[in-house]
Amino acid sequence: MSKRQINVTQSFLPPFDEYAARLKEVWESGHLTNNGPNVLKLESDLKTHLGVKHLFLVNNGTIAIQIAIKALDLSGEVITTPFSYVATVSSLVWEGCTPVFVDINETDFCIDVAKIEAAITNKTTAILATHVYGHSCNVVEIERIAHKHDLKVIYDAAHAFGVTLNGTSVLNHGDISTLSFHATKIFHTGEGGALVTNDDELAHRIAYMRNFGHNGAEAFHGIGINGKVSEFHAAMGLCILPRMDGILSERKRVSDRYDGHLSTLSKAYRYDAAAQAGYNYSYYPFLLESEELLMELREELAKEKIFPRRYFYPALHTLPYLKSCSMPISESIAPRMLCLPLFTQLTDEEVDQICGIIKNCLEK
Ligand SMILES: *Cc1c(COP(=O)(O)O)cnc(C)c1O
Repeated sequence: MSKRQINVTQSFLPPFDEYAARLKEVWESGHLTNNGPNVLKLESDLKTHLGVKHLFLVNNGTIAIQIAIKALDLSGEVITTPFSYVATVSSLVWEGCTPVFVDINETDFCIDVAKIEAAITNKTTAILATHVYGHSCNVVEIERIAHKHDLKVIYDAAHAFGVTLNGTSVLNHGDISTLSFHATKIFHTGEGGALVTNDDELAHRIAYMRNFGHNGAEAFHGIGINGKVSEFHAAMGLCILPRMDGILSERKRVSDRYDGHLSTLSKAYRYDAAAQAGYNYSYYPFLLESEELLMELREELAKEKIFPRRYFYPALHTLPYLKSCSMPISESIAPRMLCLPLFTQLTDEEVDQICGIIKNCLEK
């Protein structure tokens, strides 16, 4: 029997009958979108599950960032990280802001707070930082800097679903946190995302901005866009959310098994995201000694139909539509970082096989 292909992730899917039962209700109601009952229930359940005050579902994690930028009325320069998914930075440019990069830490790959203040100018309006691999940024220091310089803070929390800090959701930090519920994320709705805020006034702006700016059928509060979510997507979320405990424990199983094999290897650095209490096991980042070694390992794995991914590559300050600048840490990390396959359906035997290939490659 030929072995199956293993990708960096595989979407968790609920039992089909359970999803079909929800779809049947949608069919019978004829209510397909525009804040239907599945969307309202998922928003309410997510608020409870995550422990946050306001949460608005939107149709993807990128539109969530774009609405956050608009809701905070950002312009001028926004301080951000070169080590994130492209949507973090492209959203800023799309909304007419200028990204100003601050390099990352070598330890957790989040923005280096010690370098933020030097990048602030009289044009700076905000900080947009990413909780990389679900490891939270230094939110205390970012809050201190933002307060001192009167800046807004957005966290791209696409990796941070369910992550807690001192027992409460990391999403409670910053003016707005954004989530992605794309099929590759630990909690997903196929496509989807959300904005989270504790601020009532901002919540009101987000609510109308997500729906074209409508204030009733024939009036408008202000400018808006279509960020709405369909009942089909929300129904998927409702089937998956009650299963998150099981999903997390399976991901921890895989992650711990990798650790057992890989934590003592030389030529690679296993960064211990799970050392943070309240971690969500969203990724298994594996930092190689060199890019050559990464390429070699990738080739060996591909021969066995195993496909890890380079999250994140290339570093975002090198995007062709941006003015070039130098970010030494990101330039060093991005080419050497590989995220290993991590998903609930990955068996112990498959993890052992992947680790066997890695050991062969690194120890020769
Ligand atoms: C997935 C992701 C996004 C984009 O989310 P989409 O739902 O795919 O639009 C943004 N930022 C980060 C860090 C991500 O991982």
